[in-house]
Amino acid sequence: MTISRRKLLGTAAVAAAAARVVKAAPATARPVAVSSANGLRAVERAVKGMMGGEDPLDSAIAGVNIVEDDPTDMTVGYGGIPNEEGVVQLDACVMHGPTARAGAVASLEGVKNPTRVAKLVMETTDHILLVGPGARHFATVNGFANENLLTEKARKVWLFWKQNLSDNDKWLEPDPAHYDPDVKAFIEENGWDDLRKPKSGGTIHLSAVNARGDLAGCTSTSGLFFKMPGRVGDSPIIGAGCFTDNDVGSAGSTGRGEANILVSGGHLTVEFMRQGKHPRDACLMTLERIARTTREKRLLNVAGRPNFGIRFYAVNKAGQYGGASMYSHNSTGKRRQFAVADSSGARMEDAAFLFEGRM
Ligand code: ASP
Repeated sequence: MTISRRKLLGTAAVAAAAARVVKAAPATARPVAVSSANGLRAVERAVKGMMGGEDPLDSAIAGVNIVEDDPTDMTVGYGGIPNEEGVVQLDACVMHGPTARAGAVASLEGVKNPTRVAKLVMETTDHILLVGPGARHFATVNGFANENLLTEKARKVWLFWKQNLSDNDKWLEPDPAHYDPDVKAFIEENGWDDLRKPKSGGTIHLSAVNARGDLAGCTSTSGLFFKMPGRVGDSPIIGAGCFTDNDVGSAGSTGRGEANILVSGGHLTVEFMRQGKHPRDACLMTLERIARTTREKRLLNVAGRPNFGIRFYAVNKAGQYGGASMYSHNSTGKRRQFAVADSSGARMEDAAFLFEGRM
C-alpha cells in the first residue's frame, strides 16, 4: 500500500513549509561556517581559521574539537551520554571538498576527539571507515591515549536511567525526594516526560566554505542516549551525517540517525543544492523526504507525522547557508536554531521548519 504525500503532510503543510522561514538567509561574504545550535564557538573558530588561511577541513575540525572537549555538552565527545552498558562510544566523520576524500570512525572508545582520528583515517589509510576495536587500535598506534570519557554527571544520569528502566529487574527506583541535583538538572534540560523513554540528543555537524569556495564538512557525536553497544548512527556515515562536494556545497545532520541513513540525507541535500536549490530549501526538501518515507507506525504521531526530531544544515559554494528542523521547537519549547559565522562574526539564527510543534 502506498501512502500519499498529501495524506502524510497535508497540502497546506507542504505549501506553508517554504514560507515558514523566519528570516531569509542572504548570501554572505565567504568564508562561512554553519553548524548545529551547540556550535556557536565552533563556527566562530572555523571562520577565524579560514580567514587566517587555514584549510577549511582543519578549521572545521578545530571548531568541532571545542565542543568535543566540553564536558557540559553531553551529546558529543568527552562527557557524552554512554550506551546502555555505561560505555561512551563515539562516531565521527570528516570530508574534504578540494581532494574529494573522507574519513570516519564509529563506536570509538577512549578518544575525546574522534574527528581527529577520522582525519587520520582519511589521510593515512586506504580506507574510509574504521569501527570499534579496529578504530581504537588505529587511534592507539597513532598516539592517542585511552582516556575515561565518562564524566560523573553522565555516569549518574546513566545509572538513574538504568535504575528506572524496569519494574522487573533487581534495580530499585530512586526516591523522587532524593534525586541527585545533577540528574534533576539533566531531566529538566532535556524535557523528559517518561524516564524510560529518554529523547536524545545532540551531535555537532559543521559545514564550511572558505574565501576561495573550497568546502569541508565534519560531524561528531556520542550517539543516541543509551544506544545498544555497537550501534552506529548517521554521523560517521558519509552521505548521511555529512556530505561535501567541492563543486556544489556541504551538508550534514543532527537528530534521529536511523531516519537520516534511510534517505542518505547529507548527500540528498547536496544533490538538491546541485539542482539550484537554496541551502535552506534543500534542507527542508530532505526533511520532507524523511516525513514522506517514514511509514512505521511506531515512528508516527497521531497526525501521521514523524515522532522524532531531525535537523539539517548546509552551505553552498557561493556562501549561502541554511538550517532546517522537522519541528519548530525542541521538547522543552525552545525555538530550534542553528549557528552561523562569516566575516562579520558568529550568531544564532532561527531554523526553517517543516512542522510547527515540539520535538
Ligand atoms: N544523529 C545522532 C545519531 O543518530 C544523534 C543525534 O544527533 O541526536 O547518532
